[in-house]
Amino acid sequence: MSDTTNNIQGVSAVTLRGMEAVAVEVEVEITGGLFNISIVGLPDVAVKESKERVRAALRSVGFALKGHVAVNLAPADLPKEGALLDLPISLAMMTSAGLVKPRERAFYMGELALDGRLRRVRGAVPAAFLARELGAPLYVPYGNAGEVGLVKGVTAYAVDSLSELIAILKGDKEPVPITAADTVDDAFTADPDFSDIKGQAAARRAAEIAAAGHHNILLLGSPGSGKTLIARAINGILPPLTDEELIETMLVRSTLGIPPEQGRRRPFRTVHFTASSVSICGGGSSLRPGEVSLAHRGVLFLDEFTEFRRDLTESLRAPLEDGRVVVSRSSGTVVYPSRVLLVLAANPCACGHLGDVVEKCVCSRIELERYKRKLSGPILDRIDLQISVPRLLPEELLSFSGAAESSAAIRERVCRARAAQQERWAQYGFSCNAELPEKIVRKHLTLSPEAHSYLSSMAGKMRLSGRGISRVLKVARTIADLAGDVELATPHLAESIMYRQGNMPW
Ligand SMILES: [Zn+2]
Repeated sequence: MSDTTNNIQGVSAVTLRGMEAVAVEVEVEITGGLFNISIVGLPDVAVKESKERVRAALRSVGFALKGHVAVNLAPADLPKEGALLDLPISLAMMTSAGLVKPRERAFYMGELALDGRLRRVRGAVPAAFLARELGAPLYVPYGNAGEVGLVKGVTAYAVDSLSELIAILKGDKEPVPITAADTVDDAFTADPDFSDIKGQAAARRAAEIAAAGHHNILLLGSPGSGKTLIARAINGILPPLTDEELIETMLVRSTLGIPPEQGRRRPFRTVHFTASSVSICGGGSSLRPGEVSLAHRGVLFLDEFTEFRRDLTESLRAPLEDGRVVVSRSSGTVVYPSRVLLVLAANPCACGHLGDVVEKCVCSRIELERYKRKLSGPILDRIDLQISVPRLLPEELLSFSGAAESSAAIRERVCRARAAQQERWAQYGFSCNAELPEKIVRKHLTLSPEAHSYLSSMAGKMRLSGRGISRVLKVARTIADLAGDVELATPHLAESIMYRQGNMPW
């Protein structure tokens, strides 16, 4: 290698803007003088740190960087982030030194270990979309092969190390193509499984209705009642993700570098009341998606809901309402999806024992009223089902001998009910009963005269608002769909109303 070369040829790479991959061109010029590496073109800290990794990795393949190495990332005004630029930067350096020639129009991404091995990176799914759109091949670390295989129609190769890539580019080795996963397994293991839950018939039924119509649900119960277990089990009775939904969830996960879930299992994310609003809704300095987006098309679980600060629940209001989160920063705005099934769990009162068979509630009247007020507000307005989960006595627990119905069996009913909803609402652009807007509810959820008079008398007694009536109708529709009934009738309404006031202990 001569001290001065002018062999500048760009290597194609990507950077991320939210869930979108944007093409970046990496150019390197090596000139004489004292050794140093400078990177220009709005690199972030991780890109700047790549100097050391790249230098060590190049040394591992017998290439010692010398002289002044200028790395230019174009376009200049686009912020570049992440370690995924390690591979294209090292490739551009070797190209500049005349050691290899990258394939024209191919995209390269990967983080380098000091010994030259490639580590999986975030952003492989968005990168695969970009490569497909541009008809260019994509080289990714082996660790990203699984998720890239989910993107149909992309030409992609998995690479193990820098030395392997050099061998491929020199024509000494055939690249390993990533074959598209033609079928993603529908089956997945429910964990926890409803067969592990003893008793709790009412809560099981409410969970099934929530899953069937995609209704948000609140579980109220004393500590130790098993409400958290039931909340977690809801995920296992939801229908498997469709192809489109699978890709949507993969995009969010890939943006954060989280590997795919098992098969078509829906996401389940728990948020604790100590969480920050950035971790829940996304944003911060790096514009990353938050928990509500990681839960997209799955369950967002807020345990101990009454402990959540008002500002946290306020920040969730728009994402829940709009099904998307808009994250803004001076450098731009990105949008993340946030269509979730919301599951809340809370104690029935401040001491936790209201309605408990074992311990007596010691809350005063005022404390009870104050606690009830915590169970109201913008998030609670979006809850379709409320159910109490009583703690069972030891002898009750022992009396349940045989195994309870499994999640797989419940999921079958849920899927049938979902199919009925899809068929009915597809022409209006909705897929489940919970999504229906007021207008559609009023026009299409019609009642027989008998059912109508029952609902109006109950609505009067319970002082239901227009919105409340609409929720009762939507849940009733799901109950009818689970039963395979075409007509909405009084028994469906009666059960639905039970989940409004609930079998609440107050
Ligand atoms: Zn109490």
